[in-house]
Amino acid sequence: MAILVMKFGGTSVGSPEAITQAAEIIGTYSSQWERLVVVVSAMRGVTDILIQSAASAALGDEESYKSLISDLRNRHQSVIDELISNDKVHAQLIGLIEVHIDELSAYCRSIHVLGEVTPRGMDTITSLGERMNARVVTTTLQQRGLNSQAIDATELIVTDATFQNAVPLMETTRNQVNARLEPLLQEGIVPIITGFIGATQEGITTTLGRGGSDYTAAILGDCLDATEVWTWTDVDGVMTADPRVVPEARVIPDLSFSEVSELAYFGAKVLHPKTIRPIVERDIPLWVKNTFNPTCPGTRITNSPLTKKGKVTAISTIRDLNMITVEGRGMMGVPGIAARTFAAVARQGASVLMISQASSEQSICFVIPTSAVASVIKSVEDEMALELARRDIDRVWALDNIVIVTAVGAGLRHTPGIAGRIFSALGRANINVIAIAQGSSEFSISIVVAAEEADHAMRKIHQEVILNG
Ligand code: ADP
Ligand code: ASP
Ligand code: MG
Repeated sequence: MAILVMKFGGTSVGSPEAITQAAEIIGTYSSQWERLVVVVSAMRGVTDILIQSAASAALGDEESYKSLISDLRNRHQSVIDELISNDKVHAQLIGLIEVHIDELSAYCRSIHVLGEVTPRGMDTITSLGERMNARVVTTTLQQRGLNSQAIDATELIVTDATFQNAVPLMETTRNQVNARLEPLLQEGIVPIITGFIGATQEGITTTLGRGGSDYTAAILGDCLDATEVWTWTDVDGVMTADPRVVPEARVIPDLSFSEVSELAYFGAKVLHPKTIRPIVERDIPLWVKNTFNPTCPGTRITNSPLTKKGKVTAISTIRDLNMITVEGRGMMGVPGIAARTFAAVARQGASVLMISQASSEQSICFVIPTSAVASVIKSVEDEMALELARRDIDRVWALDNIVIVTAVGAGLRHTPGIAGRIFSALGRANINVIAIAQGSSEFSISIVVAAEEADHAMRKIHQEVILNG
């Protein structure tokens, strides 16, 4: 049975025009595929506003959170005013949105009183964006005569209790998804499912991490054994670089799962990094397409792409990072320093994005998100207290405001000269390379540069190894 799972991102369902366009696309493909399942994000920017309202409430800023809530209400109302013409349906939908806005006000009031918001509370709040929008999109489709039904993914995706970054429990999820969706699909109903959210076994709302609607689509694709998964976004596909930074970036027609997972991991926001895993295991082709240019084929991501070996496929960046250096001559030849350092980092729950050890063994450098710097330095210093006292380790310090620029391509490791060309291009542009690391897979070379040079570095590397090939 041919089954297609489609996901629409925030911009693709973020305005009356976009929702109309998405509805057009859903209508077209629901008649072409035997079964169609749709995942929708919150309207572009809504998740950020929800987070800001909770944060302002926690800070005691009543005026700000109230004004943010009223912005959200107005935004949804004006989209509904434009899309829904039938008075009764319009009133019903406005009523549904009001229920969620009232919930949001109640949560913010209690956060205001308590003076803090827990990760669990934040998930309940951020889930509202997708819940509201799934209803707006479904009602629009119904008005156009399409048999569709809004479904909360809390009924489908069962996760652990890692709030804000929950992990799906796949076997339970598979059972729930099939039990809930199969009868609808049999009847020819198109389910419109909230992206981004799930629930624990006890029914407490969780979220899958920012950008997590892609992940929702992938999880559903896996559970339903989909023929294909398509994500509709606001660019023509996965491109050779973020087009906002590198205007000359081109669409990549064909990519491997490994390349795209490396790209997503190293910051290419076009796909959530975890999206690829459930799909790759099942060998389900993934397409990235443009809602606003639907006849453009987009990017096809599979296990057997036609990409030429050894070429750089794309460049991506991760921002808001710091590089921590543990240095001292007494470290030389002492076993276990690296292991203890990273154990100390892990205790803070910080993810290490890149590691580079000098061959002299006089220092260990690693890159972590800026938000984790203070706790990580403290933890490493505590761990190495003895070595610091003995001056075996001189200091543990952080370099602020750095960015990782990564070049990704299948078989890069076997291609001599690419790193050299990247360095020469950066040298000619007077851009200082702070550190370099080759991905543990064969797919990437990462370079650390100062934040203010990152965009320039992106364009230079793109010119050298992509445009000049
Ligand atoms: P959506 O809401 O549809 O999920 P996102 O904003 O999460 O959309 O991701 C799409 C954005 O990702 C694009 O608008 C683009 O600016 C950015 N982006 C970053 N790197 C790339 C890349 N290599 N190819 C395409 N888009 C990229
Ligand atoms: N709305 C969520 C976010 O902004 C999920 C998504 O858009 O994929 O992170
Ligand atoms: Mg996204």
